[in-house]
Amino acid sequence: AVNERESMYLVSEFAQKQFSEILFKNELGKAIGLSYFKERGFTEETIKKFGLGYCLDQWDAFTKTALEKGYQLDYLEKTGLTIVKKDSEGGGARTFDRFKGRVMFPIHSMSGRVLGFGGRILTSDKKAAKYLNSPESDIYHKSKVLYGIYFAKQAIAKEDNCYLVEGYTDVIQFYQRGIENVVASSGTALTPDQIRLINRLTKNITVLFDGDAAGLRASLRGIDLILEQGMNVKVCTFPEGEDPDSFSKNNAYGEVVAYLQENSKDFIQFKASLLVREAANDPIKRADTIRDIVQSISKIPDRIKREVYIQECAMIMNISEGVLFNTLAQIGRMEI
Ligand code: ATP
Ligand code: MN
Ligand code: MN
Ligand code: MN
Repeated sequence: AVNERESMYLVSEFAQKQFSEILFKNELGKAIGLSYFKERGFTEETIKKFGLGYCLDQWDAFTKTALEKGYQLDYLEKTGLTIVKKDSEGGGARTFDRFKGRVMFPIHSMSGRVLGFGGRILTSDKKAAKYLNSPESDIYHKSKVLYGIYFAKQAIAKEDNCYLVEGYTDVIQFYQRGIENVVASSGTALTPDQIRLINRLTKNITVLFDGDAAGLRASLRGIDLILEQGMNVKVCTFPEGEDPDSFSKNNAYGEVVAYLQENSKDFIQFKASLLVREAANDPIKRADTIRDIVQSISKIPDRIKREVYIQECAMIMNISEGVLFNTLAQIGRMEI
C-alpha cells in the first residue's frame, strides 16, 4: 500500500508539471489558460509559485501523454485524473480526462507533495460545476487538507495568525498582495481536522469569508469549531459582492491591511453586529442572539477565557453577567 500511494503521488506530480507545461508552452494553453490567469491579475511568478496549469479541452490528451510516459492507467484512475468507462459489450474501455478544459490548481500537503487538484471551468456553462475537485483517494482526503498551507505555514507561525478564506483564488490573490499567512477550506465546509492543521502553527484564526449569504453562514459554522479547539477566532466580512480575491485585487497592500485591522471583530462583536444589522430593537431577536453567543462561549475549553467572554458579552449586549453565567451553567448541564 505504501508503494501504491507513492505511485499516486508520482502521477499527481507528473500531472502538475504537465498541466503547467501546457499553460506556458502550448499555443492553446497560452491563449486560453495563461490569458485567463493574467486577466485575473496573477503574475507569472505567482502562477509558477502555486504551480497552476491548464488541461486541454480534448477528450483524453492528458491521459494519452501520461500513458506514453509510462504512468499506469491504474494510478491515473485511482487519483481521479482519468475517468475509465468500460464498454457495455465488455472487454474494451474508454478513457477521459476528468479536468478537460479547466484551469488547474494543484493542492499541496503541508510538506509540499501534490495530493490532488481543483479545476475551474472557463465557460459560463450553467450546467457544469464551476469548480471540480479530485475525488477522495488514498492520498487526497478533502476534509484533512487546507489549500495553500504549504506556502503559508512559515508566515502563519511568524505572524501568529492565519487568515482563513473560501477559495483558491482568494489565497493566491492575498499571497500576491503580500499577505502570505492565508489558507482556504476549498470546496468543503470547514472541518475539525483542517482547524487542527492550523492549530499546530498558531492559536489565532481570522475568518474572511465572502460578502454573501453563503459566506456568512460558513463563517458562523466555523466559529464554534475553532473555539472548541481552544483557539481564538476573529471574523472580518467583506462588502456585499466582494471576496478576498476581488478586494485585494482592487486595493493596495496598505489598504487591505488597514481594512483587515479596522473590520476584524471577535466572535461576540461579530454576532452582535449581525443583530444590529437586522433588528437591534426586537427583544426576541436580541434574546436569541444572547443565547447564541453564550452557546458559542460554552464551547471554549478554558474556564478563565469563558469568564472573560461572558463579561464582554454582558457589556456589549447590555445584560447582567449573572444571567449569562446561569445560562452557561444550564448549557453545561444539558450537554452532560
Ligand atoms: P471564482 O472567483 O473563480 O469565481 P470563488 O473562489 O470566488 O471562484 P466561490 O463561488 O466563492 O468561488 O466558492 C468558494 C470556493 O468553493 C471555491 O473556490 C471552490 O473551492 C469551492 N466551490 C465553488 N463552487 C464549487 C462547485 N460547484 N463544486 C465544488 N466546489 C466549489
Ligand atoms: Mn461565494
Ligand atoms: Mn468567492
Ligand atoms: Mn471569487
